Amino acid sequence: MKSFGHPIPYNPQVSRTFNVQTTTGPARRGQLATPHGTIETPVFMPVGTLATVKGIPQDLLEEIGPEIILSNTYHLFLRPGVETVRKLGGLHGFMAWPRAILTDSGGFQVFSLSDLRKVKEEGVTFRSHLDGSSHFLSPESSMAAQIGLGADIIMAFDECTEHPADARRTRESMELTLRWAARCKKYFEEHKREVPWKAGGAAASSQSPEKSATGDWQLKADSRWPTADSRQLLFGIIQGGMNLALRKESAERTIEIGFPGYAIGGLSVGEPRDLTREVVEATLQHLPVDKPRYLMGVGTPEEIVEYAAMGIDMMDCVLPTRAARHGLLFTSEGRISIKQARYAQDEAPLDPKCPCRVCQRYSRAYLRHLYAANEVLAQVLNTVHNLSFYLDTMRTVRQSISLGDTPRFPHTAER
Ligand SMILES: [Zn+2]
Repeated sequence: MKSFGHPIPYNPQVSRTFNVQTTTGPARRGQLATPHGTIETPVFMPVGTLATVKGIPQDLLEEIGPEIILSNTYHLFLRPGVETVRKLGGLHGFMAWPRAILTDSGGFQVFSLSDLRKVKEEGVTFRSHLDGSSHFLSPESSMAAQIGLGADIIMAFDECTEHPADARRTRESMELTLRWAARCKKYFEEHKREVPWKAGGAAASSQSPEKSATGDWQLKADSRWPTADSRQLLFGIIQGGMNLALRKESAERTIEIGFPGYAIGGLSVGEPRDLTREVVEATLQHLPVDKPRYLMGVGTPEEIVEYAAMGIDMMDCVLPTRAARHGLLFTSEGRISIKQARYAQDEAPLDPKCPCRVCQRYSRAYLRHLYAANEVLAQVLNTVHNLSFYLDTMRTVRQSISLGDTPRFPHTAER
């Protein structure tokens, strides 16, 4: 296969461990080792839905600094299709991104298509939001898709329980998710060697996989990694709606199935924020301390700090990137809506405390002009800043935990 630039290397020697270094109250600072780099936690993962963090080329993204990004299985499943990505080396090779990637299972997106889906024991039939064509996703096909996409961390296929839902409906949904979790794990264990990663780094070689005289495996650049250990991490997802007893049961039974990490799913589905917090806090009590805990789909800068303080290790949200494209910018002085006329003559940087390349170079007046003129560069620069702000916020959170301080978000003023 023709290779553009350099192959995306991964480290086949990495041990699949999560290491909690320091705790401050319930907050934890740790490191999660993945085949494409070690992630400092608590971590915020920018969202690159269609194998791109919208508007940001990968070299610039590397400079902004995320150690892991998220991509969406549902969207990639429909376009360009898993097989295309798999043939091109998985997401790492396809999008030329050398660091870690997490894919969701497609369950949440399918859940969002409320009028276009049909849930059965076997899986979910749904219509594409692109062209109305009919598709099917099941625990097995979601696993096959995520193995083909080749993210470092992949997620069990679950049913996101709607809100509100009564106790009976919430239990039925939770039971379905548990049965699906067991099927996901079974399929994953049987197929995990099919991950399309190319060996790289110091281990890369142009030879076919074969044992050398010294007994070491030599790897061909376009071969699949031939060991018995796949090195993708499959995380389980806790459901149970807003019912704390069911959350406890979901946690216990998901842990019984056994995964190297656990996500709290089924939140941010329209419930009040106080309830989200209460469910997260209650669920955390039942999760193992030595495994990473991932809260899916949150949040504002204030919220990601708060959840890290509660003991969450991983988060993702479209907010910083989506808000940026709508001219909403997060700064150390509060939120700024750059479209406002008050910034038309403002020569100050967007955020005087931000070290990002946008704040170092451009004025608010220029950013306001770009946005008002609907220039493409407005979206790029706004996204660079918002992502930098989120990643800096998490950097500060990690420093606080190391210093024995409870992480706090100091800036809540609105502008
Ligand atoms: Zn900035």
